[in-house]
Amino acid sequence: MTEHLMKILIVGDGYVGKSSFVHRYVNGQFNSMYKMTMGVEFSVKVLHWSDKEKVRLHLWDIAGQERFISMTRIYYKGALGCVVMFDVTSSSSFLNCLYWKRDLDDKVMLPNGDSIPCILLANKCDLSQRVVSADSIEKFSKDNGFIAWMETSVKENKNIGEAMRILVKEILSV
Ligand code: GDP
Repeated sequence: MTEHLMKILIVGDGYVGKSSFVHRYVNGQFNSMYKMTMGVEFSVKVLHWSDKEKVRLHLWDIAGQERFISMTRIYYKGALGCVVMFDVTSSSSFLNCLYWKRDLDDKVMLPNGDSIPCILLANKCDLSQRVVSADSIEKFSKDNGFIAWMETSVKENKNIGEAMRILVKEILSV
């Protein structure tokens, strides 16, 4: 049995759903109470990837405000992949994905010098007050080198495991 250890970053502005995403993915639950993340939250999930392979994920949920106090270089160290998340009801959280992606590209790279694979998640797609269109996400994702983008709803448990599988698959292939 081979065990792969992967440090995965979860970044994006505050309130987009990062902590809820990790909680749903790891514990299978959704809680609508809002608790602001201070600094970094760390969670572990083990995937039985195949008969011969296990994947141990170390998920680092980085608080939105960390970008502004330039601590990110420390948190990014050794990461092999990243989830960049925004909220489809908040255009500023979408626009800020550009800064998150640039920060990642500047500060973290794989041993071969490539930037780490990042998936873009358009969260809260269950809400009707949506302001970010699929066309603009598609263009943004292509222009900025994301491996893929997906609509998610942590609340309705939509595309959570799927998104993580795409990211893990990409990491295993590089
Ligand atoms: P974070 O600051 O990015 O970690 O965001 P949180 O995970 O704390 O979520 C912020 C708020 O959005 C909380 O009240 C969550 O319950 C809510 N939330 C998270 N994901 C969803 C979703 O997919 N749909 C809806 N409607 N609300 C969500």
